[in-house]
Amino acid sequence: MIYFDNGATTRVDPRVVKAMLPYFTEYYGNPSSIHSAGIKAREAIEKARKTIAEYLGVKPTQVIFTSGGSESDNLAIKGVAEYHGKGHIITSQIEHPAVLRTCEHLEKQGFEVTYLPVNKEGLVTPEQVSKAIKDNTILVSIMHANNEIGTIQPIKEIARVCHEKKVLLHTDAVQSFTKTRISDADLISISSHKIHGPKGVGALIVKTNKIVRQIDGGGQENGLRAGTENVPGIIGLAKAVTLVSDDEINKIKELRDYIIKELLKIPNSWINGSLTNRLCNNINITFKGAEGESILLMLDDKGIMVSTGSACSSKNLKPSHVLTAIGLKPEDAHGTIRITLSRFNTKKEADELIKALKEIIPKLREMNPLNV
Ligand SMILES: *Cc1c(COP(=O)(O)O)cnc(C)c1O
Repeated sequence: MIYFDNGATTRVDPRVVKAMLPYFTEYYGNPSSIHSAGIKAREAIEKARKTIAEYLGVKPTQVIFTSGGSESDNLAIKGVAEYHGKGHIITSQIEHPAVLRTCEHLEKQGFEVTYLPVNKEGLVTPEQVSKAIKDNTILVSIMHANNEIGTIQPIKEIARVCHEKKVLLHTDAVQSFTKTRISDADLISISSHKIHGPKGVGALIVKTNKIVRQIDGGGQENGLRAGTENVPGIIGLAKAVTLVSDDEINKIKELRDYIIKELLKIPNSWINGSLTNRLCNNINITFKGAEGESILLMLDDKGIMVSTGSACSSKNLKPSHVLTAIGLKPEDAHGTIRITLSRFNTKKEADELIKALKEIIPKLREMNPLNV
């Protein structure tokens, strides 16, 4: 299998698996137990918390482990909303469903939400955020990097605008975490399975006390998230963080740029999103007159995995909300695929992908009755 769908999930790094294993069968104590087996597990979690805190430049007490990116987004937004009871929230039109559906849920409960539009590259400007902030604004939630088109937002500047007006900023950093630095937001969502860690674990960085927990029960995670900790998962997440390097990011970027250069040789194709403010591993490309889902399936036949970038169900053929927001026509949005790289991809795999697409695209265009 040639796997180019690392925006959806990643292979768990074997070094992560190795670090996790003892916590299933040897050190399986409950971190809340006061006997030595419990203490052993507690110590391991606190060490993992410290690793992640140091990487992000935050305090260990600000790292709240959760079940992943979706839960972190829900906790951040619903948690701040519940603290205030009412008010106005600002987000963007290109957020992940974990943010968009959460905001819609809060709208039904009486909160007011502004969904900021983005420009052609998928960027939200600090000026837009500044203008949208009102007296009753309680939270701004703008993702750090977009999962479909890879655009990286100017979070540092957006944070400055928010803090000038004393408004909290949440950022979904699930895609950017370990790929590009983030530290300025008050609430930061991360997830393990997008960075070669296991599924079902993540964290919310919390630098405010204006937040109410969403899972009630025991006093775990500073009282912000009840439930026995996912000890092996947390160990895996921290191990995954220790494995990243700038060298590797540069190598991934090089391979990305090589693939882009080759694929743009296919006529009537273009890259979506920003070419400069872009995730090191993201390629979102439109092949006019070829259908994305067909491209995906024909690549799958050759053992190559990519994505259409949008989670569009077969019943509901609505084009991706992200591609629509950056101004793509529905038919062009449907001719788009997402190729996302990881440390495990090689030049040889890239060449197979390029070769396959150079065969597939003309074939599909020939078959398309709309291409006369
Ligand atoms: C994958 C993803 C999520 C969801 O994370 P899970 O850990 O799968 O719940 C949220 N936001 C973005 C941007 C993502 O890419």
